[in-house]
Amino acid sequence: MTMNKDAGMDGRFGVELADVFAAAKRIGDIAVYTRMRRAYDLSARFKKSVWLKMETMQDTGAFKIRGAANRMLALTDEEKKRGVITVSSGNHGRAVAYVARRLGIRAVICMAEIAPQHKIDGIRVLGGEVIIHGRNQDDADEKARELAEADGLTFISPFDDPLVIAGQGTIALEMLQSHPELDTLIVPLSGGGLMSGIALAAKAIKPGIHIVGVSTKDGAAMFESIKAGRIVSVEETPSLADALPGPIPPDNKYTFDICRNLVDEIVQVSEDEIGAGMAYAHFHERIVLEGAGAVGLSALISDHRIARGENVGVVCSGANIDPKKYADIVSRYGDAVQK
Ligand SMILES: *Cc1c(COP(=O)(O)O)cnc(C)c1O
Repeated sequence: MTMNKDAGMDGRFGVELADVFAAAKRIGDIAVYTRMRRAYDLSARFKKSVWLKMETMQDTGAFKIRGAANRMLALTDEEKKRGVITVSSGNHGRAVAYVARRLGIRAVICMAEIAPQHKIDGIRVLGGEVIIHGRNQDDADEKARELAEADGLTFISPFDDPLVIAGQGTIALEMLQSHPELDTLIVPLSGGGLMSGIALAAKAIKPGIHIVGVSTKDGAAMFESIKAGRIVSVEETPSLADALPGPIPPDNKYTFDICRNLVDEIVQVSEDEIGAGMAYAHFHERIVLEGAGAVGLSALISDHRIARGENVGVVCSGANIDPKKYADIVSRYGDAVQK
């Protein structure tokens, strides 16, 4: 889907470039500056420069620590005393638990029954209190909001919060500071916190930059909502990219509007393409990616024409996957990518 873009930057989105710079200053003790790795094989294959933004190198194995840190460092002392609560398929919960531990505060993470055990364990190990509730993330989200109200906990949105969005936007600052020549960014897209921050910052710095979002084939709530012109609910189906499918609550205030205005194109990848992206990263680039972390590569190797320009940045958003499941996937898809 190619979209009509309007990159007007007059602060009408509720988040602006200055907020992203402020976030970069604030979160530096918790989130690390991640390096860009040149993807030699892909660069040679497509005769372009392809760079991988290694968010897998964060302490929590995914980028979400940026937004969580920016949001939670803004808590008042009173809010810190009571603690925080959130809903997550895994990586946001892990980030919230990690930041809570660093700040010495309580964190409750609501997750659906379909949440991967590996991600639940990763949260508990950090001291996060996990509550498993309901069949899907809609149910878990409801529970989290209910408990927030009942227990006086502050709800930390996984994506629809200006501070969370600004935190994720610091990825674009780093990418364009080290590689100002980038002309295409390929970004995984679910609730759109990652994409909103990156699109806002990147278009403010470099208005002509081409921004591509990558979603799963099924359960792509943002893709379907943009297509429909309003927030729609989609059925949440299991995916190798378990961090991607999930609802956009109807009270969305920021990410839908930002994504629909600033993202140039959204592509969808199949389960086989996700598996191939992970195997490709493993065998050709020697890096471990979880499904959601690999979709940018999946999209690029499925159709390199999505990279309009010569200098392409691909956000490798996370690496949290059960090692046994990972081994299965890369061996299953290995042959397909080793030609
Ligand atoms: C959360 C997540 C995404 C999607 O981020 P949104 O802000 O929800 O669009 C992509 N990749 C990984 C690894 C994630 O954890």
